[in-house]
Amino acid sequence: MSASLANVAYIGATILFILSLGGLSNPETSRRGNFYGIVGMTIAVLATVFGPRVTAEGLPWIIGSLAIGGGIGLYAARKVQMTQMPELVALMHSLVGLAACLVGFASYIDTSVVYSGAEKTIHEVEIYIGILIGAVTFSGSVIAFGKLSGKIGGKPLLLPARHWLNLVALLAVVWFGVQFVQAPDTNAGMVPLAIMTVIALLFGVHMVMAIGGADMPVVVSMLNSYSGWAAAATGFMLANDLLIVIGALVGSSGAILSYIMCRAMNRNFISVIAGGFGTGGGAVPAAAGAQPEGEITPVSAADTAELLREAKSVVIVPGYGMAVAQAQHTVYEITKLLRAKGVNVRFAIHPVAGRMPGHMNVLLAEAKVPYDIVLEMDEINEDFPSTDVTMVIGANDIVNPAAEDDPTSPIAGMPVLQVWKSRTSIVMKRSMASGYAGVDNPLFFKENNRMLFGDAKKMLDEVLGALKA
Ligand code: NDP
Repeated sequence: MSASLANVAYIGATILFILSLGGLSNPETSRRGNFYGIVGMTIAVLATVFGPRVTAEGLPWIIGSLAIGGGIGLYAARKVQMTQMPELVALMHSLVGLAACLVGFASYIDTSVVYSGAEKTIHEVEIYIGILIGAVTFSGSVIAFGKLSGKIGGKPLLLPARHWLNLVALLAVVWFGVQFVQAPDTNAGMVPLAIMTVIALLFGVHMVMAIGGADMPVVVSMLNSYSGWAAAATGFMLANDLLIVIGALVGSSGAILSYIMCRAMNRNFISVIAGGFGTGGGAVPAAAGAQPEGEITPVSAADTAELLREAKSVVIVPGYGMAVAQAQHTVYEITKLLRAKGVNVRFAIHPVAGRMPGHMNVLLAEAKVPYDIVLEMDEINEDFPSTDVTMVIGANDIVNPAAEDDPTSPIAGMPVLQVWKSRTSIVMKRSMASGYAGVDNPLFFKENNRMLFGDAKKMLDEVLGALKA
């Protein structure tokens, strides 16, 4: 394939990626968006593999790697449980970071192209920054994978003088950068480059370790953004325009998502990155906050069905537990039944419900719940006082009134769904255990709240059975 044909293919792929992002911004067009993305990526891969920069000797290697990598990816994507998606995404981000590091080292030791003068400096700066971003993305994403899969505890690790540590690391990176660019040859340059890589890896670990439970959604979107910048950096190192454009698209959309998540959680982006938010400034450590007091009122599936039957308006609040139990299909069965009886049923989606941005929307779309009854927090929060029954299905942190009432709570200030304002709220979960943020929930003890204990799928099946009876 000639260079100009490859360029045309790249422009086509770029347009398809932009259309893909546009499509993904709305559930109704997201399938089309995904399709554009698949076509764009296929064109991009073909144009690169058969493009002018791959020699005939290199081709078998590339095709072999594609088959192995593609095979592993296909296997992982087919095997992964819906609840493990956030971890898989974090792991994928780590690979983008690792790739940027490897490409950086490879292009530094590559002697086939000789740079001189300003070009040499620019190329070396590209390599240095590319490896820096790549290493932070790699180690940060590996830690995020550990935290999201529960292999590493969710509590923030707060080293003494951690801000100073970060500052010293930053200064060291700049200093070694100067040494690197001034190095007389590749051997001499390799030392500062390797030291910076180690610092960047440690920085990535420290950054994500310092971020506490309820702030994890911001980390996920932030690493998403970093992986984009790492890809863009790889593009600069390889002089590949498509990678630069796509990396910048992913990087900036991830940054916008981080901003949206921060706003949704009423957090300041800088404080989240600095880590340990809600625990700094001499305040109480995470998982503190007042202990809720009072009695809980358990309810049976049959009584839940009775309450639903008598209701005129019902709001369903799905959370992480609905994903674990895979209860979304039964939820929709119940919704259809109630709607057929003239009950106004709507879903309330908190921006950080579940374990990844848009988690609940994906599950509800899978169950074919119509989009017009799925509402965002801001759209529905005012309606709780006029709601007869709110069903909270495997959600906890996102309906915790302590966020509003208890300034000492680690989640203080985070906007939550005010389900306690409805006439009756029913919380479905298996025990009194806390949610991801590790905070007790006073909602369970409120007078108008009922607890339906058990696996969400099993209990909803029982409720559905009772409703049909
Ligand atoms: P939570 O983690 O607060 O609560 C989920 C609840 O579901 C648990 O208390 C658990 O209680 C219950 N549960 C688990 N399995 C089942 C089951 N099989 N059947 C019924 N219930 C079950 O989830 P929320 O959605 O309310 O809040 C999300 C939390 O995750 C927030 O703190 C958010 O910050 C964080 N987070 C969000 C990310 C995102 O991008 N959305 C990313 C990372 C973290 P029990 O064990 O008693 O059943």
